[in-house]
Order: sequence, then structure tokens, then C-alpha cells
Amino acid sequence: MSRHEYDIVVAGAGTAGCYAAATAAGEGMDVCVVERKDEQEAGHIACGDALKGADSFPEAIPKSQLEPSITNTGVDHGRFEIPQENTVLEIPVPGELAVIDRWEFGRRLIEGAREAGATFHFDTVISSVTQTDDGRVTGLKATQNNRSVTYDADLVMDAAGALSILQEDVDFADTTFDTNVRYSQFCSAYREVIEVEEPVSWDDALVFKPTQRSAGYLWYFPRTSTRINVGLGFQMNEEPMQLVDVLANDLDTRSEFNNAEVKDKLGGSLPTRRPYDSAVAPGFVAVGDAAGHVNPTTGGGIAGAAYAATFAAEAAVDALSNGGPGEQSLWQYNERVMNKFGAKYAALDVYNILSTAVDVDDLMGLLAAIPGEKLAEALYEGSTSVGLRLTIKSAIKSFGHWSTVKSLYDTKKLADELLSHYETYPDTPAEMHDWSRRRDSILNRVYESTGADPKYWPDSLISFHR
Ligand SMILES: Cc1cc2nc3c(=O)[nH]c(=O)nc-3n(C[C@H](O)[C@H](O)[C@H](O)COP(=O)(O)OP(=O)(O)OC[C@H]3O[C@@H](n4cnc5c(N)ncnc54)[C@H](O)[C@@H]3O)c2cc1C
Repeated sequence: MSRHEYDIVVAGAGTAGCYAAATAAGEGMDVCVVERKDEQEAGHIACGDALKGADSFPEAIPKSQLEPSITNTGVDHGRFEIPQENTVLEIPVPGELAVIDRWEFGRRLIEGAREAGATFHFDTVISSVTQTDDGRVTGLKATQNNRSVTYDADLVMDAAGALSILQEDVDFADTTFDTNVRYSQFCSAYREVIEVEEPVSWDDALVFKPTQRSAGYLWYFPRTSTRINVGLGFQMNEEPMQLVDVLANDLDTRSEFNNAEVKDKLGGSLPTRRPYDSAVAPGFVAVGDAAGHVNPTTGGGIAGAAYAATFAAEAAVDALSNGGPGEQSLWQYNERVMNKFGAKYAALDVYNILSTAVDVDDLMGLLAAIPGEKLAEALYEGSTSVGLRLTIKSAIKSFGHWSTVKSLYDTKKLADELLSHYETYPDTPAEMHDWSRRRDSILNRVYESTGADPKYWPDSLISFHR
């Protein structure tokens, strides 16, 4: 058995792990990243390859380092295909948008963290977490080439992705760390990268199309005009979908994909839920997918992972330099996440809840009737700016969907109330309990108003449903 000692040990070499490691190493910490994949495979992540806002990503990994993996910067709008209504909506996307070669991006993230001073241990599968009797996390146990390895650290950063096994192993009793986590709050997704013979006509768009099931959609994202990332996903509170077959059937219906050659396939899960209420415990911080830092309406998680990891590493460096990584010293991380994107994602989660309860044809009919600029606001700016006052023309078009309009309107009011509540996110762990009880009472009204099944259950029931 071998034993290593670091200031910070990071679980997982994805976006979150690399930004966390680069930030902490850049601040002079001794940091190791432990990754189960081998060095060649590391960075190969199931993804739609769409990247939003890369121009303002954290600086710990310079943009110039990542630029060569950005293969399509000509994308400027979303193309929403609604077969039920025989409609295609073209909606401009504000801000920088790109499609990337995700594996190359992943390799470059690792290189960036290495250049900042982090050490990588590949081919090393984490199996458990070490913890003192009084609850402080002190390191990880893993297996490398059939040999046991122990990592001792002042702080463990969990960047091991969706449904991280580390959290199964930590005793979070007497902490604020969010354990209200169930499979049904996640989306199961699958994607292929295909090469087509002729350039597609929509290489300047991210193409979306609903599946026949509510809360599921197909996407076609052009890495280049002939190399397309095609995929789909569904929320795991629904009947399982045969992702590979549904995708293949859809590709068969589109002439632009005739004779397409599959270059790569991968599946995975992603959190389509609100961010963790708190992602800190003594000696332990969760970041990225491991803490629900994904936009629950689009599934975009690269930006959230990069920002959260940077905030977490900065809080960790601060805490380790000033008396130790207790919950209170790490708390600023939770606050910064909620300020930057967490409050908005929690409000958007209300629309994810609504989408599991309304009829997909009704919703599509309504979307087809809403003016494009209103939809753009709704999709890209978050809940507060969604204006649902329909023009007379679109109100007439939406005839037949008025109960869905009402439902959407009521949902928007509750999402706004939730957003305001998140603006009062607590300053200390001690205030967490009261704050989350008030939040839960708003969510109860969301379930009542939408008719959706509860997405988050009281804590006492969690372990049973996990
Ligand atoms: C099909 C699909 C499509 C998506 N499309 C998009 C998109 O177009 N745009 C977007 O922004 N986001 C997209 N996302 C979400 C995005 O990929 C994630 O939010 C993002 O990758 C999260 O990064 P992360 O570092 O938190 O986790 P990950 O990228 O999952 O990294 C986790 C790392 O931890 C490692 N690991 C896990 N367990 C262990 C263990 N026990 N021991 C050692 N290592 C371990 C894994 O091997 C992995 O390298 C998509 C997700 C899926 C599944």
C-alpha cells in the first residue's frame, strides 16, 4: 500500500476538478487530482459540446490554452423544431456561444491545471473517504493497478461528477451538506459524434427537438459543418427511454444524416435539479456536477463547474491559511455560488418541475405561439425577465393551450418568489435550517400549482428513496 500527503486532494479530472486544482495550485497549495481513467482517456466526457460564455471563464486556466479545442464559433442562435406544430423557431442566443471538441477541451484543462502546478494520478479509482470520529474528512482511499493507495489531505474536493460515490461514504450528520439527492432529480443522456458527407445547412445553430416524452429533448450541435454531436436525454423520474434506439430512429428520418459515420459514443447522467443548498462539510467541498451546478432547463454544466470550482478553491485556500476547513470558514463558497448562478438555477428548476407535469403537445403548442424574443429572454436570461404578456396575435395562436398559459404564468410567479428567497441565502450555517424550511414552503406551492410530484422530499425519507 502507498500513502500520499497533500494540502488538497481533488477527486476527478473533469472541468470542476481541473479548475479547482489550477486555482489552488496557483495559490501555492500542494494539490493532487485523482482520476479513475487512464491518462489517454481522461477528459473524454459525455457531453453535447455546447459551451456558453467561455469568453469570461475564470482565469486559472488561460483562455488561450483552451482556444484550439473550440471548433465552431459561428453559432449564434437556437433552432427549435416543433414537429407537433409543424413549426421551427429560430431564437438568437445572446453572449458568446461555441461548440467544442470536448475530449480535446478535457485534455487541455488537464494540461492547464498541470501547468499551474497540480499533480495528477490517473488510473486510480477512489473507493472511500476517511473521516475522524468527530466528522472531519481527512482523505481518500483508492485502488491503482490493483494496489491500495491512501491520500491524506487537509481538504478533499469532490469533483467526481454526477452521483459521486464519495458522498455515499461520508457521514454528513451534524453538517449542512445537502443530502436531499435522489436519482429522479437527474437526467440520463446519450450522445454520438457523427460525420456526415455534405455540410449541414444549420451549422450556425444549436438545434433542439422535443422527444415524444415530456421533459426530454434531442439535440444536434454542429462541431463543424460536417461533424455533428447528436444526442438526447430524459428526466429519470419518467419511464426509461431506449436512448440509442430513439436517437437512431430520429437520425433515420433526416436526409442530412444519410450515410453518417459514427465517430464516438458515450452516455452519462447529469443533475437537472437545484444546486445543493450547501456543498460544504468539515474538510470536504463538492463542486460541479457533484453539487448540482447544472442549468436544470438546458443541461449546461461546464460553466457552472468552472466557476464553482474556482470559488471553492479560493475558499479552501482562505480556510486552510486561516485556521482550518470548518463549515463556517468554507461558507463563502456556498454564498458565491448562489450569487453567481445558484439562485437563478434554483428558479429555473421550477420550470423543470412544471415540464414533468404538463402535456408535451400542449407545451409545444404554446411555445410555437410565444414571440421569439420572449422565448429568448425566457431561455437565456432566467426567470425574472420572462415576460408572459402575449401579443394579441400570439394569444389567438395560443388558443387551445390557455390552461398551459395559466400554468406557466402561475409557475413564473412562484419561480420569481423563489429567486427572491435565494437572494436572502444565509450568511452562516446556523441559519440554514430556517431558510430551507421557508424555501420548501414555496416549493410545496409549486407542486400544488403544477400538479407535479414532489422533486425534493423531506430529509427523513431521503435514504429510503435514494
Ligand atoms: C450527454 C451529456 C450532454 C451534456 N451536454 C452539455 C453541453 O452541451 N454543455 C454543457 O455545458 N454541459 C453539458 N453537459 C453537462 C456537463 O458535461 C457537466 O456538467 C460537466 O462535465 C461537469 O463537470 P464535472 O467536472 O463536475 O464532472 P465530470 O466532467 O463528470 O468529471 C468527473 C470526473 O471524475 C472522475 N471520477 C468519477 N468517479 C471517480 C472515482 N470513483 N475515482 C476517480 N475518479 C472518478 C470521472 O472519471 C471524471 O473524469 C452534458 C452532460 C451529459 C451527460
